[in-house]
Amino acid sequence: MKGVIFDIKRFAVHDGPGIRTTVFLKGCPLRCSWCHNPESQGFGVATLEGRTGAIEVGRSVSVADVVDTVERDTSFFDESGGGVTFSGGEPLAQPDFLMALLERCGALDIHRAVDTCGEARGDTLLSVAAQTDLFLFDLKLSDSVRHREFTGVGIERIRDNLMALCATEVPIELRVPVVPGINDSAEEIAALAAFVAGLPRALPLHLLAYHSAAMDKYPRFGMPPPLPDTPEPVADDLTSMRRRLEAAGVEVRQ
Ligand code: SF4
Repeated sequence: MKGVIFDIKRFAVHDGPGIRTTVFLKGCPLRCSWCHNPESQGFGVATLEGRTGAIEVGRSVSVADVVDTVERDTSFFDESGGGVTFSGGEPLAQPDFLMALLERCGALDIHRAVDTCGEARGDTLLSVAAQTDLFLFDLKLSDSVRHREFTGVGIERIRDNLMALCATEVPIELRVPVVPGINDSAEEIAALAAFVAGLPRALPLHLLAYHSAAMDKYPRFGMPPPLPDTPEPVADDLTSMRRRLEAAGVEVRQ
């Protein structure tokens, strides 16, 4: 079984609990305007014509290749309560490859997290859930029209999938990228709080600050930066967002 990845990051500390190895699968059904990894969006190994010439992005690898790399760090996982995180791109967009990776890591007793945008077939998501120890589930915008404007897809299936996941017992942590001028308004925060507070089970939420440095990557891959003038959120704005969410009963984690 083979799949396409575009990176493996060892010793990651922001992709789930403890020290983790994060495997980035290539290909994503979304086109978020703030995407930090625009080179990851297209499917398959690709040659992108960037500012400095042609760059090959992605590599075709076997399940064994990936698991061999992940397995090197099991002592760090054991000491820190960490494990492997499958991210992307969108890992659910290569479902057979992802399942095989999850099964192999599960057989090795490695904690497995899946970082998803939630845009996937519902039956695929539930199959993956049976082999996953933690979902990192992204929420971006509350209004479907604006969600489509800034990510390329509506929010309905993502919400349906989150509801379906809530009916399982798999732990879920929500992750919200905070992008000034796009999803940090009082209305957005109120809608986000109402949605999260109304879920069938309480889920913790992480606020992730948008990094404007992401826009520097686009020309490198021959892509126009979608948000050239958007600033990063300031600490006070994030604190104020956190307080408003907490006031609505949402657990916000750093
Ligand atoms: S879901 Fe993630 S990888 Fe896909 S376009 Fe959005 S930010 Fe980029």
